[in-house]
Amino acid sequence: MNSPAQKLWSACLGRLQLEIPRSSFDTWLKSTSGLAIEDGRLTVVVPTTFAAEWLERRLMPAIQRAAAEVIGSDTRVVFLVASAAAAREHAVAPAPAAATPLPASREDAAEANAVVSPPRDSINPRYTFSSFVVGEGNQLAHAAATAVAAHPGDQYNPLFIYSSVGLGKTHLLHAIANEAASHDLHPVYVTSEQFTGDFIRSIRERTQDDFRAKYRSADVLLVDDIQFLEGKEQTQVGFFHTFNELHNANTQIVIACDRPPSAVQFLQDRLRSRFEGGLVADIQPPDVETRSAILQLKAERAHVRLDREVVNLLATTPVGSIRELEGFLNKVIALSLFMGKSISQDLVSSALSGLPFSPRRKTAMTPERTLEVVARHYEVSVEHLCTRSSDRKTTEAQRVAMYVLTSIARVSLDDAGKLLGDWNRRTVSNSLKAMQKRIADDQAFSNIVSSIITQL
Ligand code: ADP
Ligand code: MG
Repeated sequence: MNSPAQKLWSACLGRLQLEIPRSSFDTWLKSTSGLAIEDGRLTVVVPTTFAAEWLERRLMPAIQRAAAEVIGSDTRVVFLVASAAAAREHAVAPAPAAATPLPASREDAAEANAVVSPPRDSINPRYTFSSFVVGEGNQLAHAAATAVAAHPGDQYNPLFIYSSVGLGKTHLLHAIANEAASHDLHPVYVTSEQFTGDFIRSIRERTQDDFRAKYRSADVLLVDDIQFLEGKEQTQVGFFHTFNELHNANTQIVIACDRPPSAVQFLQDRLRSRFEGGLVADIQPPDVETRSAILQLKAERAHVRLDREVVNLLATTPVGSIRELEGFLNKVIALSLFMGKSISQDLVSSALSGLPFSPRRKTAMTPERTLEVVARHYEVSVEHLCTRSSDRKTTEAQRVAMYVLTSIARVSLDDAGKLLGDWNRRTVSNSLKAMQKRIADDQAFSNIVSSIITQL
C-alpha cells in the first residue's frame, strides 16, 4: 500500500525509529500502517486495542512530534484498531464505534473499549472461524457450528453449546453470525439478559409487535448465556414462544449455556426437551497442543513473535480458561515492553513466577491484587495505602500503585485517584508523569516497579 497516508506515516516511523528503543518500536510500531489523511488528521491502523492503548499512553508525545515535523504542526494522529478497520472495509458487521478514533487520553478507557467491543447486540468481527483454533476439546462444537453456519435450519436445530467460562462459546456464536452475515443472511445475536430486557420493555411499552419483528427477522438467532434466564419465569414463557415460532419456521437457533440442558433446573421441562431435541455439544478445556496453537495465533494477530520455547512455557502454565491464557500473553507482552526486553523464556518465567496457580484463580491483574502487592512491598497496610498521607514511603507506594493500576491493571485515572485517597484526575495525571520520568531516569526504581508488576 503506497497511499499518501502510508507514505507520510512511513516517514513518521522513520523518525520514531531513531528515538524509540528498538524492541518497543518492533513490538508496537512496526506493524502499523497509515490509512487516511484528512483535515489534518492522520489515521493509523494498529493491530490491537492493547497496542493502541500503549501507543496512546506511552508514545503519543513522540508520535505527535514526528507527525508535526513530517506533516505539519497541527496534525493529529488517531489510531484505529485493525479489526475495526477491516469491519469498515468489508462491512462484515455494523461497525458503529469502529470509525471513532481512540480518544486522546487513557481516562476515556470505556470509550476506547468501544473500538473493539461493538455495541452489545452487534457482532464482533474478530470472532470468526478463522480465528478459532480447533482441538480435541472443541471439535464437536466447532463442527456443528460450521455446519449450522453453512446450512442454517437444516439439521442440528437448535444447536446447544455448553462449557465452563472462557472456553470459546461466545466466540463460536459470533463466528456463526459472521459467517451467516457474509452469505447475506440476517443473524440476531443477544445475550439472555438482552433478550430479557427486550421482552420486558415490549410489555411495559406495549411494543410487542416491534419485539416480534426483531426476533422474527432473524435467519439465525443466537442466544448467549441462557443460564441468566434463571428465575425469570415470565421471560422464559416469552422465550418459549419466540423459540417455537422460529423453530417452526425452520429458523436456526443456537444457544450457549454454562451447563448442559439436563442440568438447567430452572427451565420449564418443555423448553429443556426442545433443547435436547437438537444437537448438544460441549467444549472441554484445551490440551497443551491446542493452547500452543491458540497462543501462536493470538501472538501473530498482535504482530508479536514468540519462540517455540516461550510458547511451550506459556502453554503448559496451568490456567483454567483460554481467556486467562490470553491474559498471560498480554501480560508478557506488556512486561517485555516495560522492561525493553524481547520475549524470552526468562521473561516469561519471571512474569509467571510467584503466582499461586490454581485452575479457579481469577485473573491476576485485579485492582485488589495490585493494591495488595504494592502494600506488601512497601510494608504498609492496604488501608494505609488507600488513605492520604504525608509520609514519604506511603506517598511513593501510592504513586507506584497509581502507575501500576492505570498502566497495567487498566483502571481509569479517576478510579485510581478514588482508590488511593480520593485524589482528582489532575493530581493522578501529574503523579503519573513524575513516575514515568523517574522510571526512565532511575534504574533501581524501575527495577522495583517491574518486580511489583511481575508479582501481579
Ligand atoms: P465463553 O463464551 O465460553 O466464556 P469466549 O468465547 O468469550 O468464552 O472466549 C474467551 C476468549 O478465548 C476469547 O477471547 C476467545 O477469542 C478465546 N478463545 C476461546 N476458544 C478459542 C479457540 N479455540 N481459538 C482461539 N481463541 C479462542
Ligand atoms: Mg461467553
